[in-house]
Amino acid sequence: MLVSEVMAQQTQVQRAAEAYPEFLRRFPTLAALASADTEEVVRAFSGLGYYRRARLLHAAARAIVALGSWPTSADELARLPGVGPYTAAAVAAFAFAGTVPPVDGNVSRVTARVRALHLPLGSAALLRAGREWAGQLYGHVRTPEVWEAVMELGATVCTPSSPRCGACPLRRVCAAAATESADAFPSPRSRRDRERQLWASVWLEGPGRSVLLRRVEDGTLLRGLWLPPFAVLAPGEDPAGRARALAREMGWRGLLVEAGPVRHSITHRSITILPFVGAGEVGRVSEGSAAWSWQDPDHPAVPSSTLLGKLAAACRGPSAVAFVTDPEEE
Ligand code: SF4
Repeated sequence: MLVSEVMAQQTQVQRAAEAYPEFLRRFPTLAALASADTEEVVRAFSGLGYYRRARLLHAAARAIVALGSWPTSADELARLPGVGPYTAAAVAAFAFAGTVPPVDGNVSRVTARVRALHLPLGSAALLRAGREWAGQLYGHVRTPEVWEAVMELGATVCTPSSPRCGACPLRRVCAAAATESADAFPSPRSRRDRERQLWASVWLEGPGRSVLLRRVEDGTLLRGLWLPPFAVLAPGEDPAGRARALAREMGWRGLLVEAGPVRHSITHRSITILPFVGAGEVGRVSEGSAAWSWQDPDHPAVPSSTLLGKLAAACRGPSAVAFVTDPEEE
């Protein structure tokens, strides 16, 4: 279930379905997946793209083996590397009879139309509405299959551009159908909603659990604040490679361990930060300069951002370990 959900993220279902049987043949059990070489798992994702998913799936398998048993609730599953709220809810619902509704794009679109909500896809408000509506459906039938049915309805009947209201079983309760305005829902995303960035950052700890912060000098809205070194990634750029370069810049000679992604918004930008945690020796990191400083992340003596607290939670939390990268590589 986890494998199929991960494969279907950002890949057409048909292509994921073709790759799935071969993946299970190569890794028939959780133990087989966890003990495999990471690059072998990445190779099994060949043709699916977004290979970071394969690394995170491998890390999740290792984390489950380390736990001793499968986490079964959506909350617990969401602590695994690479497992977001939707995947966690879907695996909990369909594999463990969980009761948190998984809300994907199809469920969101159907919700927006049934309830006539002028909200854009991907917005927090529409996600909340989707969970509430899907939760009410579950209350009537008490089986998570009702959520699968809505997903299927969204994929085949209540499609983005050609909703077939005449053939829809929800027609009598659908506010958009009642006003023949299905096309008006959900709201189009504004240009601002679509502006997204991916960053790599390094979290390097020194004596007394202080953290190396660097003054932001680039043109982002964080200019002048102090944060763990980060870089805005170009499309397709390798986050681990960029993190290694950042670590080398700071003189770090230990290993780097990837933590779970951190989400942060600055005005109209939606940012995903991939933090890499320094593990091992401090190496030859600078003792501090006008641009770098060792600081207590809970009480920094320099101006910082709420992003520092988010990074601290991700880098010091239980699900921090995903995979290791070595700054000496390349
Ligand atoms: S009646 Fe039309 S708009 Fe409403 S859920 Fe069905 S297909 Fe979508």
